[in-house]
Amino acid sequence: MSDFKALAVPGVQKLKPYIPGKPISELERELGIDNIIKLASNENPLGPSPKAMAAIKDLLPELALYPDGNGFELKKALAEKHQVNMDQITLGNGSNDVLVLLAEAFLTAAHNAIYSQYSFAVYPIAIQAIGATHKMIPALGWDSESPLGCDLAAMAAAIDDQTQMIFIANPNNPTGSFLSQQALYKFIQQVPENVIVVLDEAYLEYALESQRVDGSLWLNEFDNLVITRTFSKAYGLAGLRVGYSLSHPDIANVLNRIRQPFNVNTLALKAAQAAIDDGDFIKQSMAVNAQGLSQLAACCDDLNLRYVPSKGNFLLVDFQQEAMPIYEHLLHNGIITRPVANYGLATSLRITIGTQQQMQRLIKLLPTALR
Ligand SMILES: *Cc1c(COP(=O)(O)O)cnc(C)c1O
Repeated sequence: MSDFKALAVPGVQKLKPYIPGKPISELERELGIDNIIKLASNENPLGPSPKAMAAIKDLLPELALYPDGNGFELKKALAEKHQVNMDQITLGNGSNDVLVLLAEAFLTAAHNAIYSQYSFAVYPIAIQAIGATHKMIPALGWDSESPLGCDLAAMAAAIDDQTQMIFIANPNNPTGSFLSQQALYKFIQQVPENVIVVLDEAYLEYALESQRVDGSLWLNEFDNLVITRTFSKAYGLAGLRVGYSLSHPDIANVLNRIRQPFNVNTLALKAAQAAIDDGDFIKQSMAVNAQGLSQLAACCDDLNLRYVPSKGNFLLVDFQQEAMPIYEHLLHNGIITRPVANYGLATSLRITIGTQQQMQRLIKLLPTALR
């Protein structure tokens, strides 16, 4: 038989696949338990936006038709929301899709792309799949003012003639760390204009409105800036797969050339459009998250566990001992969390913030997991 791995393109041969959170159905099958809660994939514990659900309820008869390949209605709504032109928007099958499109459209084996240690696992996968060089810049330490956060000075210093792209998530996953408006703005100012800065704002909605760092406000100033957003997190539509980027129209034009013609499906287009108007749901999601986050942080304080202060809907908790036995203990009691050893964080777990009830169950269980 052929050695198919050897036949794969060089970048792909070296890839480690993305490890998703364990699905509830899988744990049910494995352990035969029910009443499982999943705090593993930063999903919205309140479910989808009710407006989004209502909008797609009656769409089933339309599924024989292809979706609107241009996503006109959704783009129109997004253009209004962000005060940009429709030709600045690229829709994706999740924002993951847009991240991959960016890498495919702009990177070659001769280029490198920069990202921080402990940032989203999709960045190195997208970069390496192309055969480009991924330049991972060590993150700040636990005792820095932004534990495990991006070292922007080191990232700026790492830019060389082959650098084509920089990925930054703000807030970042899996750490929850975040960059201030001032620091981020200053960084982008330093980046040469032929280097594309991808600012991934998947968790933006979870910060208080007064504390949000909204990079889309800088699009007129920086032609090389690309903002990505998603409906998977605060809007509660992870299962539908829809996200988008905002950029200079010329960048959107390039992405549009390689985008699959129907990369966002009919239900996703309609649900996302409806969800944009669901401000009440976002507010409610923010409130539930803020409460759960402070509850979990207080629990960690009580247990003397350190964690990264988070502006997302999850908390990275460092148990300062091998985290897998703790993960397993929680798992056997019906709570799925996320191991992050693949990020080089073998003593930590990433815990998504759930409902009040879910957090109470976790907080009761956590001390019993610690030996
Ligand atoms: C969850 C997440 C995304 C969004 O992924 P989708 O493909 O839109 O579901 C993007 N970036 C980061 C950092 C994430 O954590």
